[in-house]
Formats: sequence, C-alpha cells, structure tokens
Amino acid sequence: MAAAGLLYLVAVVGEEPDRIIDASLILLIVAFNAILGFVQNYRAHQGIEALKRLAAPMCTMVRDGHRIAAPAAGLVPGDVVILEEGDHVPADGRLLDAFDLDVDESALTGESVMVGKRSTPLPETVILAERGNMVYMGTVVLRGRGRLVVTETGMDTEVGRIAEAVQSQTARPTQFQRDVSTLGKRITLIITVTIGIVSALLLTVGGFGILETFVAAVALAVAAIPEGLPVVLTLALAFGTRRMLERHALVRSLPVLEILGSSQVICTDKTGTITEGRMSLRVLLWQDRQYDVTGAAASIDGEYLHDGISMDLADNLAVLAGGLCNNAEYHVEHGFIGDPTEVALLAAAHKAGAPLSAYTREDEVTFTSKRKMMSVVASQGDRRYLFTKGAVEVVAQKCSHVLSADGPIPMTAVEREALFQENSRLAGQSLRVLALAYREDPGDVHEALEQDLVFLGLAGIADPPRPEAKAAIEAAATAGIRVVMITGDNKATALAIANDVGLQGECLEGRDVEEMDDEALRMAIQRIGIYARAEPGHKLRILQALQGADRVVAMTGDGVNDAPALKGSDVGIAMGIRGTDVARDAADMVLMDDNFASIVSAVEEGRRIFANIKKFVAYLLTANLSEVLVILVAAIFGYLPVTAVQILWINLVTDSAPAVALGVDPAPRGLMHEPPNRSQVISRPVISFILSVGVIIAIIILGIFALMLELADLPTARTVAFTAFVLLENLPLVAIRFQEGSSLLANRWLIIAILVSFGLQLIVLYTGLGSLFGVVPLGLQEWLVLLGGAALGVVSTIIASKVLTRRVGSI
Ligand code: ATP
Repeated sequence: MAAAGLLYLVAVVGEEPDRIIDASLILLIVAFNAILGFVQNYRAHQGIEALKRLAAPMCTMVRDGHRIAAPAAGLVPGDVVILEEGDHVPADGRLLDAFDLDVDESALTGESVMVGKRSTPLPETVILAERGNMVYMGTVVLRGRGRLVVTETGMDTEVGRIAEAVQSQTARPTQFQRDVSTLGKRITLIITVTIGIVSALLLTVGGFGILETFVAAVALAVAAIPEGLPVVLTLALAFGTRRMLERHALVRSLPVLEILGSSQVICTDKTGTITEGRMSLRVLLWQDRQYDVTGAAASIDGEYLHDGISMDLADNLAVLAGGLCNNAEYHVEHGFIGDPTEVALLAAAHKAGAPLSAYTREDEVTFTSKRKMMSVVASQGDRRYLFTKGAVEVVAQKCSHVLSADGPIPMTAVEREALFQENSRLAGQSLRVLALAYREDPGDVHEALEQDLVFLGLAGIADPPRPEAKAAIEAAATAGIRVVMITGDNKATALAIANDVGLQGECLEGRDVEEMDDEALRMAIQRIGIYARAEPGHKLRILQALQGADRVVAMTGDGVNDAPALKGSDVGIAMGIRGTDVARDAADMVLMDDNFASIVSAVEEGRRIFANIKKFVAYLLTANLSEVLVILVAAIFGYLPVTAVQILWINLVTDSAPAVALGVDPAPRGLMHEPPNRSQVISRPVISFILSVGVIIAIIILGIFALMLELADLPTARTVAFTAFVLLENLPLVAIRFQEGSSLLANRWLIIAILVSFGLQLIVLYTGLGSLFGVVPLGLQEWLVLLGGAALGVVSTIIASKVLTRRVGSI
C-alpha cells in the first residue's frame, strides 16, 4: 500500500501515466489479497461460531408429564427441571424434591464446598447462602437428584445479577499457531535483512532508481512473508472440526486437533462406549432357580422361562425390588427413559407384570460409582420396605439374611460363597450382575437405612458390545494405539467383554491400583489392558502413570468425578449422550454418539489434519523461499527478474488457493498404518523439504532467466521468469504427492486451484492485460524453454524427494 501510494505521488508529480497504472495495479492486487484473506478469515470464524452454538447447554425438563431434553436458554419461570449428578443448574429455582442433593455453589459464592440441599420450605427472610431449598443458575450438581421449579432465568438470576459476563469458550492458540507466529517473526526478520541486501545491490550494481528499488523491495516483502499462513491454518482447523463433527466428534478446543492424531493410548469406558449401552435383564437367580428372560431390550414384552417353561413372576420380590429401586421411567408413547441398567430392570418388572404402581416412594439413597449401590424406601398401605440393588460384593456385605421359601433365614458363609460363585459364572457370560435385597420396616434415619438386609436374588444384565467396536479396536492397534478399558463392572464381566471385542492385556482391579505405589503402577501399566471395578479416582492415577511413562493419552469420561482425569489427559473425551455437563466442560472433545469407533475415526481425522497442515506449510514456505532466492541472486548481478507487479501477481495466483485446497486434502493411504507421530510441524523433514525444493525452483528459474537474456531481451526474459514461477511453484505439490505415494489427481480442489492459476496467467499473457503487467506474448521458443525447465524441475524434484525420504523421512 505504501509503495503504491508513493508511486502515485511520484507519478502524479512527474506526470508519468505508466506509473499511475503500475500504482493502481499494485493497489488492486494488494486490496484483492486483503479481501481474500478477510473472506477466508470470516469463513473460519463462522465455522467456529457454528461449533459454539452446537455446544449450547441443554437440560432435562418435564413437559406434559414427560421428561424431555430442551435448550437451557429456552426455560421460563414455572418450568420444572430435573437435576441429576453432573448437571449445570440451568436457572434459579425452588426445589420440589431433593434426594442426597449436593451442589457446588462456588460459581456464586467463590467457596468450593459441597452445599446440601433439601426441598423443605423456609421463611422468606433467610439469607441467600442459607436458602437450602433454592438452587442457582451456574452452580453444579455434584451428587444426588432433585426437581426444581424455575423462578428466575437468564440475567434475572443471581449469577446474572452478579456478573453480566457469560462463560465463553476460549479459543486457546494451538501449539502450531504459536509455532507459526514465532516462525513468522523469524521469517520477517530474515526477509527484512534480505530486502536490505537486495535493495543495496539493485541500487549499486543494478543502477536502479531509488523509487523502483523501493517498490521492488516492498513487493518482495509482500510476496515473501507468509502472511497467508495463519489464515490458511485457521481455515484448515475449521474445516477439520466440521469433518470431525460429521464423524460424531465435537471439538471444543482447537489444540486437540493436533494432539489427537498423536495419541498413543486411548483409555475408554466400557458401558455405552465399547458396548451398546442398551441393557436387558437376561437371567434372574432366585432361590436356587434360574429364570431366563426373553424379549427385546427396553420392551415390556417377554417371558420368564425356567427349564423352558414360562413362569409367572408378577409377585416375585426380586423382580419388584428391581422395578421399584429404580429412577427410569416408562411411558406408553415414549418408551423407557433413564439409566440403561435401571431401564433393564424396569422393563423386566413390566415383562413380569409386577404391581409397581401399588407402591409409593418415600426416600432414596442415591447411586454413585463409589458406593456401587442404591436403595429406595417404598410403602404399600401401612407397610414400608427398603429395596436395594447394586454390585454383588457390596450388597452382599449389607445382607445378614437370605430369603428362602420359608421366609428370611440367616446367611451362612457357605451361602455367601455360593453367591459369589454364581456371580462369577454369570459375569463370565459377559453379563453385568446386580444383587437385589430388601428389608421390611426400615427406620427413618436416612444414613442407617442400608443394613441388615435380606438377600433376594441376582440379576444378570446383558449389554452387547457394539458391532463396530471390534474393528475399531483392531484399527487402533494397526495405528499403533493401545486401547485400555476402564470399567466399574467386575473383573469377570470386564474380561468377558474384552474377549468379545478383541481387547488385549492383563486385568487389574481398582483396589490393586490403590495398593500400588506410583513406581509399581508405572512398571505395570504397559501390560494392563483392562481395569475392572475402577472408580473415577483410579482413572486419574492410571492417567498419571501413563503420562509418567511419556505417553500421549486420550481418556473418556461421563461423570462429575471424571472431570479431573478429563482435564489432565492430553485429549479429554466426554460422552455426548450419557455425559454430564461437568464432564463436557472439562473435555476437549465431545463424542456425540458415545461410540468408541467414533474416537478412532476422530484420531484418523486428527492425523489427516496434522498431515495437511504440514503439507501446506511446506508448500507455502517453499514457494516463498524460491521467490526470495531468485530475486536475491539476480540482484547480485544487478537484475530484477520479475517486476513488483509481477511478484504480487505470482503471490496472488499461486499461494493461498492451493494452500487452502491442501487443507482439505484426503488422507493418504497408510495414515492409520503408522505408529503415532509426535513430531512438530516444522520438523527436520519439513525444513529439508523446503530447502531442497525451494533451491531447485530457484536454480531453474534463474537458469531460464539467464538463458532468455541471451536469446532475447529483458521484457521477454522477465515474462518467461514470471510464467516459470506460476508453473514451477507447483513442484512442491509434485514432491508431496510423490512422498505420500498418492495420485496427483487425488484432490480435485487442488487441481482446480492449479488450473485456475494457469488460466489466469494465460489471460495476463495473451490479452490486453499484458501491457499492464509489462509482459510480452510468449512464442514457441519461450514455451519450449518453459516446458524444458518444468520437465527438469519435475525430474529433479522427484529425485530430491526420493533422497529426502530415505535420508530424513517424508514430511
Ligand atoms: P463403565 O465404567 O464400564 O462405563 P459404569 O460406568 O456403568 O460402567 P458404574 O456406573 O461405576 O459403571 O457402576 C459400577 C457398578 O455399580 C456396576 O458394576 C453395578 O454393579 C453397580 N451399578 C451400576 N448402576 C447401578 C444402579 N443404577 N444402581 C445400583 N447399582 C448400580
């Protein structure tokens, strides 16, 4: 711009129409470049905005008696919202009921302590901090369940009043974006020095005027500084995030795109991720009898078969316990909603025709992964019961009796042992086993409910592996990625499922992890493929041990307590369907379909993006280097081989379009056949690539320029050099394709970009525009020289690529 302005001034003062045209052209090209940059930037920004909208918070509310998922922003006072562990409270409201409800109000009070909540009414005068029956927007449910009726929303809430600032997703710069800005600064410095030298040479050896030298210097600066790089990068990342989303992975922070491809270990949950998460009760063990349950998952149709004969279990206490100790819901139109384990038990109760509606629920001791059990108090008329379900070893510990055909009898050590045997037998069939127990007339003290229970039976729940899990685990292994399964289920079930999906490695239990010190765990970690009976706290230790062994770890999670592990891992992956708000907040990526196979697709996508970033960085910098080298060397001999306008034109037609096209390059073959690569973008192979191909292009163009000076005049030599740039700046693309062993036609956008740039060049050469650019039409001799140069370029580039691949590796 400055150069153009100065040219204008001189032209107007000196009344030189030629210079006015030059100046206008420079202005036009620079302006066009700026517009192009702006449009690209805008598109990139739009892509990121669209992603942010997708990540908008949702909540579960009750409409017409049904639970529905709704955007939190659409709530109005009077709405009833269901709160569960891990939810963000979406509005201020009063609690209708609350079971073991603990809330983190630090967003409001700054104090990070759990605040217990109850639904009991309070006098109006009670101060905010002590209003135990109110919950506030922005706070987080750490434990328990409850329902609230919305009283205030949006800016009218307590948080809204305190601060107008809403939480926003911060766009951290990626490691590579930081690298680029450092690199940019260095390149700018080198180029400034080069420009100084070129200017001095043009002035002295070349005998150029001050003005021409200045314009050439500015043009060189514009052409050589890779100002398009950050924009192309953002655009590639934005495209990448969109492609990820098509593959069911929502990226919450851009840096993750780079790290994902280099993940070495994926730690995954089992339930719902490796398995379908559609559970159905298959086996009920009740008083030495096994009942096989038929019918589809989440269906009310099915039978209880004993030795192949259909039995009536409508009044069975174990079936009743499963159906009542339950927070899932069934509606005729909507089917079952709720936790899959509970849906399985509720569906089973419906299959038996258990009289669930005859009972009134009074209290609940909620389920947590740590407790591994849950209980409810329910009454029928004046009889009160406690029903409990949970992990076998936990519930068995609370049982003092077992229900026999003649009523409760004390549980002996032999019976206890038999129970564990049956548990192992069912778990070995890939079933999740839950124990069911009850107690009549439980007291009123909430904390003392779960004791002296009477054991009822065992429920064997099937959760089949996802059909695509096995192939995805295999694909991960081929790509050098270890898959580690961390599950709350017991060892036998975990091993059986692992076997079904082809997961390798030994199995450790959560308590083994607890007993090992850091060093022992780090030593063992390489051998372990399965962690059973693991709690969220164990995930963090496993993560730390893996990271201590210098592994890049991707970790999945869904609950509140998974948040530290998600935050600490290199790639935290939250579940989109099962995941809580807290887990999503802590994660870098949200898996929209909870499916393990989508993690592997996302890794592939991450690798592709990283490979493409390397490609366009190599492409852009090679082109820039060749331009600088040609101009520098020619200047030593006192020549300017291309004019300022021409340099700007080259920059316009060759640089950004192919670079953007490379950003959407398809994945080369073998991308998922190589081990994870943790190299930087500006690595040794990339630097060697830029130097070799850049020097080849420069030598050929300088050769062509020198030859044409011999054969013809300066304008012709310049025109040929100018066109040679447009042609030869495709050589890095040849080298890239050669190194990755893919076809030159692999990416149609790239082909279009190349053809358009060539077409534009022909227009400049053979239309009236030519005089503006100071070019002359090229004849046969010139084209032969150009084609000879191009052929030489292709051959030497291929040879160089071969040598580079062997010596330093491909980019
Ligand atoms: P994974 O870790 O494989 O995803 P998960 O998250 O379902 O499995 P947890 O929820 O931690 O595992 O469950 C641990 C154990 O707690 C289960 O093996 C089961 O015995 C018991 N359990 C699970 N859900 C319930 C429930 N709703 N009520 C009572 N006990 C349960």
